[in-house]
Amino acid sequence: MGYTYVMKNRVKKNTTTQEIEEFIEKIRSEYVLLHKRYEELFWIVYMGNQKFSKKKYDAQKKKEDFQNNEKYLTKINEYLSMCAQEKQKKSLHIWKNFFELYHTPKDMVSVKDAATNLESKMQKKTATRKEGYIDPYSHKFIASSYIAMRTIISTHEDEKVRKACFLATEQLAETNLDDYVAYVKTLNQYARGLGFEDFYAFKLMQEEGMTKKELFAVFDPIYEKTKFAFKDMRILEKKMLGVRSPWNMSYMMSGNFIKEEDQYFPFDEALTRWGQSFQRMGVDYKEGTMQLDLLDRKRKYANGFCHWPTIVHYKEDKIIPGHANFTCNVVYGQVGSASNGYHTLFHEGGHAAHYLNTVQKETCLNSEYPPASTAWAETQSMFFDSVYSTFEWKQSYAKNKKGEVYSLELFERKLKKLSIRKPLGLSSILMISNFERDIYECKNLTKEKVKKIARYNFKKFTDMSEDSLWLLNVPHIYSWSSACSYHGYGLADLAQTQWRAYFKKKYGYIVDNPKVGKEMTKVWALGAKYSFKEFVKMATGTHLSPHAWIKENTKSVQKIIQEARALVKSREVFHEAKKKRAHIDRPINLNAKILMVNGEEKITDNSNSFEKMADDYAKWLNKQ
Ligand SMILES: [Zn+2]
Repeated sequence: MGYTYVMKNRVKKNTTTQEIEEFIEKIRSEYVLLHKRYEELFWIVYMGNQKFSKKKYDAQKKKEDFQNNEKYLTKINEYLSMCAQEKQKKSLHIWKNFFELYHTPKDMVSVKDAATNLESKMQKKTATRKEGYIDPYSHKFIASSYIAMRTIISTHEDEKVRKACFLATEQLAETNLDDYVAYVKTLNQYARGLGFEDFYAFKLMQEEGMTKKELFAVFDPIYEKTKFAFKDMRILEKKMLGVRSPWNMSYMMSGNFIKEEDQYFPFDEALTRWGQSFQRMGVDYKEGTMQLDLLDRKRKYANGFCHWPTIVHYKEDKIIPGHANFTCNVVYGQVGSASNGYHTLFHEGGHAAHYLNTVQKETCLNSEYPPASTAWAETQSMFFDSVYSTFEWKQSYAKNKKGEVYSLELFERKLKKLSIRKPLGLSSILMISNFERDIYECKNLTKEKVKKIARYNFKKFTDMSEDSLWLLNVPHIYSWSSACSYHGYGLADLAQTQWRAYFKKKYGYIVDNPKVGKEMTKVWALGAKYSFKEFVKMATGTHLSPHAWIKENTKSVQKIIQEARALVKSREVFHEAKKKRAHIDRPINLNAKILMVNGEEKITDNSNSFEKMADDYAKWLNKQ
């Protein structure tokens, strides 16, 4: 009897290690599979084929059920209590954190449901409301969507029409006021049920691992150090009457450079310039597959994005490369539209590089979803799109069909016209973040208080001449996933500016510098293993701070021009040297399999060469 007992115990121990290993392996691959099924359908539907909507919904539900699987969480806790292996313990802890992140405690399920119901109610009300403005001449109602009216406000040449649209959007801002008050209370109840001060604190900790105190310690100095620009605007107003009105500001300050700049960004050369720039910056897509759908189409989703149907994973210790898709809405031939395409190739191309370079064994660390930080993901993409927007890049790559380079003269003229508002570049993000923080901290919230907080923050962060409820038209504040998350874009901008300053200091230049990509690759490999602020410290060598951003965005026009002129000189020297360096002109190879598609139509791929693909694509474009 005794003997059998001992035997059983020993067998049980070995089985446990084996069992844990199998369990970890099972959840790793289950995650990859459910993610893939959902994302593949997501792409098809977002590219315009609505027939798969139901299937997509079902796949999403299956993925959510996995994430909220209480049995897995219990099992992990059980294994953790008996696990002896350090390696296994680490893996189990990562998954424990993952499942806890998506878990709704039983007593909070009804609160979450109430929030979801309010959300759909608000969405429905917004989608079915009457939208339009009163024509200032005919006094008739003109049906026009909110988005269309925003475009009129920034582009219509008649001030009366712009103002009419502004007044109409002010009314729309009150669409969901009652429900919004109830919604905020519900979200706060949920967050408090989980032990947080309020929903803002909960969201910020969950997504970025930060406290409100930490976030606003970084944000507040930006307001203080840039508000001098409001004074400059008041001085400008004396010459430019009415510029501080909310229906005039963006129209009067835009400056018409779109048409003049367009010639330097021919879209049929975009692929080549992207390929060259990324290769020369040392970006390697690690044998991943990429599918690019760049033109606008009817029924296609109206915003650019990147996602990864296959996340990087392992099969018996062999790494399986990922698969990324990215898209945008270029209207080929429309003035200004190509620059949107360039922006996408750099922005989404940066996103793609990030998660195709992850090598974590725990697959939940290789995707863009939490525990991954949005701010950290945006840091990568914004890093590359800001490289594209620099004079440094334009000087090397932006040429028109005659071979003329984007000139210093154009750069200076644009700078002089637009620089007055440059220090205020983060003010909308600061405004939305401060507004939501105030809302979620407000005791006994009422409709009147919501309006008061909205007006107060609008005035503070825009210094416009009229009050506005603009903040209540920001769609992000009405949904669980995007409420109290807007700071992510601001954090990313701070981080990428800090990172660029670090590279500039270390190497002197970024464009065509292969060491930049090499350093970035090292942190990309870590996936979502660390929090945003840990990553920033690791990448840039210093803690996240607003200093680099403030320094960069409050530079005097003279200083910027000086730097640009110096750059032109050093570029001339550089180009001479470049001619002698063969590596820079080698064929483009991003170490990826690239497919150019248009919906379900395959246009070309790089199986012969990147150059052949770019050529085929240009030919196809010119037949459109
Ligand atoms: Zn992005």
